Amino acid sequence: MFPVMLNIENRPCLVVGGGGVALRKVEGLLADGAVVTVVSPEPIDPLREIARDGRISLETRPYRPGEADTYSLVFAATDDRRVNRGIFEDAERAGVWVNVADDPELCTFHLPARLRRGAFQLAVASAGEAPFVTRRMRKLLEKRFGPEWTEWTTAAAAFRRAVRTHKLTRVRQEKAYDAFFEGTVDPGRLTARVPGDQEMAGWLGDDASPELVRPRAAETAGLAPGLVSLVGAGPGDPGLLTCKGRSRLLAADVIVYDHLATTALPCDLPEKVELRSVGKQAGHHPVPQKEIIALLVRLAQRGKRVVRLKGGDPFIFGRGGEEAEALAAAGVPFEVVPGVTAGIAAAAYAGIPATYRKQVVRATLVTAHESIKAGGAQVRWDLLAADQHATLVGYMGVTSLPQVVDKLLSAGMDPHIPAALVERGTTSAQRVAIGTLAELPRTAERAGIKPPAIFVIGPAVARARALDWFGRLPLQGERLAMIAPGGKMEALLANEGAELVVLPLPLTEAARVIMGALPLTGCIFRSADEVEALADELDGRGFGPDTVAWCLDSAAAERAVRIGFSRVELSRPDAGEQELVSMIMAERAARRKYRKPAMI
Ligand code: SAH
Repeated sequence: MFPVMLNIENRPCLVVGGGGVALRKVEGLLADGAVVTVVSPEPIDPLREIARDGRISLETRPYRPGEADTYSLVFAATDDRRVNRGIFEDAERAGVWVNVADDPELCTFHLPARLRRGAFQLAVASAGEAPFVTRRMRKLLEKRFGPEWTEWTTAAAAFRRAVRTHKLTRVRQEKAYDAFFEGTVDPGRLTARVPGDQEMAGWLGDDASPELVRPRAAETAGLAPGLVSLVGAGPGDPGLLTCKGRSRLLAADVIVYDHLATTALPCDLPEKVELRSVGKQAGHHPVPQKEIIALLVRLAQRGKRVVRLKGGDPFIFGRGGEEAEALAAAGVPFEVVPGVTAGIAAAAYAGIPATYRKQVVRATLVTAHESIKAGGAQVRWDLLAADQHATLVGYMGVTSLPQVVDKLLSAGMDPHIPAALVERGTTSAQRVAIGTLAELPRTAERAGIKPPAIFVIGPAVARARALDWFGRLPLQGERLAMIAPGGKMEALLANEGAELVVLPLPLTEAARVIMGALPLTGCIFRSADEVEALADELDGRGFGPDTVAWCLDSAAAERAVRIGFSRVELSRPDAGEQELVSMIMAERAARRKYRKPAMI
């Protein structure tokens, strides 16, 4: 047996079979970027799910003789030896590498048990004769080779690049490599230490600077290749993304984002940053958690700078803990950049302070969703119901609201205690419904509140009547696109409460994604050229028949009509930007009357 490492990225691979063994092969292949086809008359549900998500092509039928011919690798995992043999023979004839599960005679290659630490991999094999030994050996090695080997490998790769650019003689090159290895690896205990850049520069020679070893580290403000940043995007208002989160996003190679995080993506994201959506969107299934993790690990292991962008805070009901654990287990270095969690921020934008001196001395964040499920971790609703000086904030609670309210009331909570629902808090689509605890499900139904929304229960909710600062802003609810630079008008509109999407030209993928994240109520055009720049975008998800083209210039207005805006408004000739802002405000006022939160 001759060991090799295959690059199967984008290579067509065939898996015949639809059971657990096939599933494991598929997962392994997907993790390394192969293009996978599965053939099976009766695949198990997880395979169907992966196919529904568009990750594999699934053919629910028996194997057709000869079809193995066009693949790079073929795996047979059916329970019929005759079929397996046919596949083996087809592949052999076509010169395609083939592996039949649990049948070493019908294999032209075997899969080793492997251990990954970044780009560094150990593979253990027994030519298919004693796989039980290799699996156990892998476990043993897993304990010996800790996660520090990943970072060590990244440092080694950087060191090698530096050695090469430094153009050392062969002898000095080998000496430098010896110095790196001997200085970092304990041969007795098989542990590794990650050297500092200064230290590596020392091994290179007197005149080397640490910058030479890791030029990228300085350039990208701490986001090292192979690192996954779990970044909280905040609740939706793009202004609530943290500075550190923003700097991570701008320095990323790839951003793996949830749907809820879309509005917080920066419009000025560099074009080269790759965007991967893994979240729930209308008409799309979310990518299963296992695959998200496999994707993060794969990207990091290829040395990408990865940002995993999640709505709110990554560690608050965002499965960030699970993702971080999986990264740690795979030996991938990661960091956490906390975000502003929706429960606190959406409440604040509805005018509800989560705590209030002398009256509300505790705030609880709870997920109703989990505890409603039988057998799941249970919430002590009885304890929460008994606490009169607290705010209870519930995530993922719209559908289970009637059950939650029932539980609280039957545990003796005061039915008259004020309670609110905040839908899409902090965004232009924010809607707030307020009532009493007992009425809350009906209030929600009447107002047609839909997820994502939080519920807030407790005496602090009554403060909304006085503190409803956001809902009162004249342009709250407006989501306006304009071409960068936004200038004075951007500030004028933002101060009045509008959400702005300031688009770069030429338009980037990120800008398109952000435009489509929520409905646009209008676009601001200062010239016909600006209108032209959006001509191909009007069928995008952000635009609708109600999207108004607000034009400062008659040529722009004509163009807007021509490209298909159904509502075009033009300011007076020579009127300034301020006047256009006033027009938008007047139109908004005519459409929406501000109502103080009705109160108990
Ligand atoms: N990690 C996120 C929560 C993810 S769970 C955070 O820290 O905010 C998803 C739930 O969060 C939604 O079902 C909803 O209850 C809540 N949520 C997220 N964004 C929201 C928003 N803008 N307004 C109201 N609720 C929101």
